[in-house]
Amino acid sequence: MGYDELWRRSVDEPELFWAEQARLIHWETPPQRILDDSRPPFRRWFVGGTTNLCHNAIDRHLDERGDQLAIVAVSTETESTREITYRELHREVNAFAAVLVELGVGKGDRVVIYMPNIAEAVFAMLACARIGAIHSVVFGGFAAHNLALRIDDAEPVLLICADAGMRGGKVIPYKPLIDAALRETKAPPAHVLIVDRGLDPDMDRVELRDVDYNERRRRHEGANVPVTWLESNEPSYLLYTSGTTGKPKGVQRDVGGYAVALALSMTTIFDLHPGQTILCTSDVGWAVGHSYNVYGPLIGGCTAILYEGLPTAPDPGIWWRLCETYRVRTMFSSPTAIRVLKKQDASWLSRSDLSALKYIFCAGEPLDQTTYEWLSGGTGKLVVDNYWQTETGWPAVSLMPGLDLKPVRPGSPGFPTFGFRMRVIDEATGDEKAAGEKGVLVVELPLPPGCLTTIWRDDDRYVRSYFGHFKELLYSSLDWAVRDADGYLFILGRTDDVINVAGHRLGTREIEESVATLGAVAEVAVVGIGDELKGQLPAVFATLKQGVTDDPRDVAQAMERRVVELLGAVARPGCVYVVSALPKTRSGKLLRRAIQAVMEGTDPGDLSTLDDPTALEAVRRAVARGPHCGRHG
Ligand code: ATP
Ligand code: MG
Repeated sequence: MGYDELWRRSVDEPELFWAEQARLIHWETPPQRILDDSRPPFRRWFVGGTTNLCHNAIDRHLDERGDQLAIVAVSTETESTREITYRELHREVNAFAAVLVELGVGKGDRVVIYMPNIAEAVFAMLACARIGAIHSVVFGGFAAHNLALRIDDAEPVLLICADAGMRGGKVIPYKPLIDAALRETKAPPAHVLIVDRGLDPDMDRVELRDVDYNERRRRHEGANVPVTWLESNEPSYLLYTSGTTGKPKGVQRDVGGYAVALALSMTTIFDLHPGQTILCTSDVGWAVGHSYNVYGPLIGGCTAILYEGLPTAPDPGIWWRLCETYRVRTMFSSPTAIRVLKKQDASWLSRSDLSALKYIFCAGEPLDQTTYEWLSGGTGKLVVDNYWQTETGWPAVSLMPGLDLKPVRPGSPGFPTFGFRMRVIDEATGDEKAAGEKGVLVVELPLPPGCLTTIWRDDDRYVRSYFGHFKELLYSSLDWAVRDADGYLFILGRTDDVINVAGHRLGTREIEESVATLGAVAEVAVVGIGDELKGQLPAVFATLKQGVTDDPRDVAQAMERRVVELLGAVARPGCVYVVSALPKTRSGKLLRRAIQAVMEGTDPGDLSTLDDPTALEAVRRAVARGPHCGRHG
């Protein structure tokens, strides 16, 4: 069956459709009811069924693929590679689970995991899943305050960390950060379990509270910890959103629905089958990392490559070499990461044997046409954009090359995935927009399996944040979209990223896209700034590609001309700044509101998700100096 037919069934006969898909995973007891949507916007999938994520990810495969690689953990920071078979993974996770049990962790307890992108982070997640504990992975490298906020909310019984992370060859000790977070939080856990890689010889230990993982593990080597079967709708994990728009929300995921959605996505979207390999360049701290570094590939019987390091170290060919070495079939990355590579010499794309590689998926941000063309042209591979949110847990809009190959339309992630019936509606009236007209992207109820079940301990916020925007009960993505005449969806940015120029509503993305078509431009962010005459004007901030030596004033003028040429005079930027870096969140998303605050001299609000403070400084300096083109500043 092709995409059209299958998708249709998934939305017209959801119970039949998902009852069939439920067979993709192991149920200890089969579901009694496929869908309970008696209390919208809540819904429960596979009611009464019991299952376990760890069992589906590991135990189920042991007979058939015990000796196949499950995880390959590559670190260009510590210059190490660890190849782990399913059998070895089983052994490691059981030992880890035994350590957790000994520390008193049980079903329903929260465990915060603050680790770099290393094998033990995966063991820790799966060990929690095995015993029914709820993990909450916090991206390693978030500041102490961020961590404290998440601990306050999750109230964990245990925190699992590493002694240190590394970035660009520099050791970043985690322990001082953790101690600071635990001083700040209202809900410190009883224990901190430390995976010591020996990177921080001066690490402080707090007597009785801090526990050494390696030592405990030795005691539990060879342990067998039985799987705790959970009802399909019990929580599996919490994951806080990146906080691009405000206070992070504790997205709560279920067990059964998530496992089924991932299993289905592996073959249909990513075209990955048991025994095949995926390189997902995300971090386990993000939604993509949870779903496609860990649970998805393992549930699907695949090999997952986990990567700790920069995309450019030791050189910009590293990911392509991994593709060659491990015969990677599907790569999954982000536009931000690809733009980093795009700044480098393009010949790196052709120096490795990429004959096994079929697809490069990208998600997390709009995949602009220039980046798309650079990547697909340079590799000759199919580049597939896919749109999702931490909330959805898996792609909500994507092409499905595993089913049939619809032509790629650059700039569009394609069509809704299974169970997502989407509408593009008017933000004020809620009426459906015609093809080609921009509106808010919403999803009809019930949300398909895999999506969040609620916000941790805050049902009210769940209802308010996502379903409180329209008269009808609809899930609002809070993103702008437009559907073309053939049904392809284009995501135009967040509903709060809009500039109103003399009554015209311009999406920041449209302007950014047109600036990005200039060869000299590496990255660009557009924000709206107040203008007495027109209400708002676009302010353009751009970084240039490495090696570009043109006068910034000339490039800035070229940017202005290009915007006018492509979007018309109405979009003419009020000012253009060439900067050395742009502020981003730790997840690599442009932090436009921080730039905006600098422009307006207002309080930028919570900047704790900011990746590199010097980038914001660069913007500040540029603004103080004045624009390279235009009059504002
Ligand atoms: P918060 O909700 O806390 O502000 P966030 O929305 O940045 O954080 P994520 O869930 O990581 O956190 O990001 C989801 C958002 O990323 C989407 O709502 C959308 O704006 C953007 N996005 C993801 N994938 C794509 C894509 N393929 N094309 C365009 N935008 C995308
Ligand atoms: Mg969001």
